[in-house]
Amino acid sequence: MPAALRACRDCKFITTSRDRCENCGSTNLTQSFYGMIIILDEERSEIARDLGIRKKGAYAIRVA
Ligand SMILES: [Zn+2]
Repeated sequence: MPAALRACRDCKFITTSRDRCENCGSTNLTQSFYGMIIILDEERSEIARDLGIRKKGAYAIRVA
């Protein structure tokens, strides 16, 4: 069974961690999020630039 995914309410980073965002260190995580985008190259991605993402990884489109 796959680990539950959680999204960070502060930076939208998606993590399998239960209590801590691996991107910004926030403990403000939620399992209520919609959509997912994968940023592979944060330097070239226009989506990453639009969303203010500076690190590659998976991000929620909307966090509840
Ligand atoms: Zn975060």
